[in-house]
Amino acid sequence: MRAMVLKKLCRLEENPFPLAFTILPEPVPLENEILIKVSACGVCHTELDEIEGRTSPSHLPVVLGHQVVGTVAGQGSKTNVYKPGDRVGIAWIASACGTCTFCLSGNENLCPDFKATGRDVNGGYAEYITIADAFAHPIPDAFSDSEAAPLLCAGAVGYRSLKLTNLADGQNLGLTGFGASAHLVLKIVTHQFPNAKVFVFARNADERTFARDLGAYWAGDPEERSPEYIDSIIDTTPVWKTVVEALKNLKPGGRLVINAIRKEESDKESLLRLHYPDHLWMEKEIKSVANVTRSDVREFLLLAAEISIKPEIQEFRLEEANQALIELKERKIRGAKVLKIA
Ligand SMILES: [Zn+2]
Ligand SMILES: [Zn+2]
Repeated sequence: MRAMVLKKLCRLEENPFPLAFTILPEPVPLENEILIKVSACGVCHTELDEIEGRTSPSHLPVVLGHQVVGTVAGQGSKTNVYKPGDRVGIAWIASACGTCTFCLSGNENLCPDFKATGRDVNGGYAEYITIADAFAHPIPDAFSDSEAAPLLCAGAVGYRSLKLTNLADGQNLGLTGFGASAHLVLKIVTHQFPNAKVFVFARNADERTFARDLGAYWAGDPEERSPEYIDSIIDTTPVWKTVVEALKNLKPGGRLVINAIRKEESDKESLLRLHYPDHLWMEKEIKSVANVTRSDVREFLLLAAEISIKPEIQEFRLEEANQALIELKERKIRGAKVLKIA
């Protein structure tokens, strides 16, 4: 099968072709797995973190990609959830142990044996993929394959981030950065919390305009002080400066939720501007979002279908994966990038 394979970690500035086009043997499903013919796979910022070693794959070579949509093309002897031709999706969670205290309490995203699709097992930058049937998700009819792909990560993690804010209707929510995840969160909030005011912090004027068009109450630069104090803020940027800037806008007892698997090192000195009385005093909290659970993915897919959330998408061919990654790195974001594979 055709695949785009990461063989060696590198910095994209030094090597703009980190993935190599490779013909791999088609994977064979284990008895509890299904074989999926991949139709579309989203391109996520986490792939940059993997390639550049901020969250390194557990083995190389590896096929990246964790927003996978396709159809069931084969199955092991002990699978009975899906049948050939069913449309399914795979998200970042490829497996968890199922027996630890985290798994048993619904926090399988924190499982010490958590395996990530496209990092610890081969992902969707390829024509075929296998996964345990318990970790595949039905895709609602409302979406095309390419539309569904970004929902599996940006959407599901955004949904989890929003849950972690504990936002109540009528409160103020901040969104720092306005990429794929934040714009889906804004759409959820407009539906679930119609009286909440959303404050968007984005560097780019087009993004701020886009945020206002989608119903944001206010949009400004990340360095600005918001016109009102904010109950909770979700940060989706890869940098540190926004963390400090967000904290100053929080109400007493407010919470900052960082939705980023890793932060980049380039502006870490921004943290030296942290001023305890302004940024942390008065019981302000910082919490990160780690991974997703299967129920996050499934709940979000159903919600997205119900309220007609459709991401803006930009399609690339499988062989153009390197170009898609470079454009993502350079923040040429015109909707979510998706590899259209079949
Ligand atoms: Zn992702
Ligand atoms: Zn576990």
